[in-house]
Amino acid sequence: MLHNDKLEQWDRESFFHPSTHLAEFARGNVAQRVITGGTDSHIEDRDGNRMLDAFAGLYCVNVGYGRTEIAEAIAEQARELAYYHSYVGHGTEASITLAKMVMDRAPDHMSKVYFGMSGSDANETNIKLIWYYNNILGRPEKKKIISRWRGYHGSGLMTGSLTGLELFHKKFDLPLAQVLHTEAPDYFRRANLGQTEPQFVQHCVAELEAMIAREGAGTIAAFIGEPLLGTGGIVPPPEGYWPAIQAVLDKHDILLIADEVVTGFGRLGSMFGSEHYGMKPDLITIAKGLTSAYAPLSGSIVSDKMWRVLEQGTDENGPIGHGWTYSAHPIGAAAGVANLQLIDTLGLIENAGTVGGGLNSKMRAALTDHPQVGDVRGEGMICAVEFVKDKSDRVFYDAADKIGPQIAAKLLEQSSIIARAMPQGDILGFAPPFCLTEREADQIVDATASAVKAVLG
Ligand code: PMP
Repeated sequence: MLHNDKLEQWDRESFFHPSTHLAEFARGNVAQRVITGGTDSHIEDRDGNRMLDAFAGLYCVNVGYGRTEIAEAIAEQARELAYYHSYVGHGTEASITLAKMVMDRAPDHMSKVYFGMSGSDANETNIKLIWYYNNILGRPEKKKIISRWRGYHGSGLMTGSLTGLELFHKKFDLPLAQVLHTEAPDYFRRANLGQTEPQFVQHCVAELEAMIAREGAGTIAAFIGEPLLGTGGIVPPPEGYWPAIQAVLDKHDILLIADEVVTGFGRLGSMFGSEHYGMKPDLITIAKGLTSAYAPLSGSIVSDKMWRVLEQGTDENGPIGHGWTYSAHPIGAAAGVANLQLIDTLGLIENAGTVGGGLNSKMRAALTDHPQVGDVRGEGMICAVEFVKDKSDRVFYDAADKIGPQIAAKLLEQSSIIARAMPQGDILGFAPPFCLTEREADQIVDATASAVKAVLG
């Protein structure tokens, strides 16, 4: 099937590609790429091109491609028991084992994990649980959710609303009314010139306080944030941001959702980003790194504090009215167990910290002085380069200049390296598999410097 020469034609005729310019695709202006295989940090397409995938798919293939241990675990599970549901107390060896493994790794104040299929549905679960929680506590008015501009939390109705990127709202009648957006913690882009980092953190806190005062704390249920802004531009939080935000939330009895779909299970060089940045979440969203995308699986990790109320709710109302057919799907769970074992056995979180740390520092050293490089930033195995027209006055490019996409295309053309032009601004993102070697990290840095030179001089 992979060698079928009609594939391109069928693709054009039949396949509705997500996050794709549909009209440009139809006109033939979006490259059709058929990916056929992969090993470690590399993938191959059907034309025989071999590429270093410095974005690990969609920052999800954390253990790298071609891991037979996970493939075999999936095959064995499919042979033994491809499916059974997890409603009304049912489970499988794989789903129960994975739940135990997740909770062994989660922060101490967390209690249980609910499994879904995608990051989006896990965040939908989180919002439903929060509404249920406040209804059980007799505060039906406390329902609004505060998200951040530039946050990414999925593309469902609620989660697309939480996502703070205009493209995900425009013409979709989103965001829904219960969702509010506050300042993005992006010091480079959002701080006034001359404003120090602590002053900018104070500004973010003041914006949040003002929003809470305006809406009334009695109407606000939760705040959702990625420990490090991902799709909105790969932006680590300014120093002291999370403890300062956490203090405001605690004061107003507002729950915190840490969306760790990207940061969970090691991307920052530590198990969870919440711990890394001093957050104390009531819910943690996990997906990508849970299975390294070998099978779709996500989860909502629930705190002790929320769990007690959820239990009480079922005593008053009957079983919790929330479940997906594929919750805790055995094949996803088997992939998750094998994946987390592999991460431990190969010391991949440590590698994400050391090799990723090297990637970040070398990228900074190679590019910071370029006149059109405004910022080089990251943490562990995630890194971004942001381009500006004029550095001293921080004049940004127009989106139409497509600087990020041009450099990403040059990088691929010159060096067969895949980086991601982030959807917001002129930002080039890197989030390679954790098994990246130092040599590959050096290749990425050298090739990026050369692509930047080729496009910007
Ligand atoms: N949250 C975050 C932080 C994400 O990065 C993503 C996906 N990029 C999601 C949620 C949504 O996950 P999915 O695409 O699996 O629905």
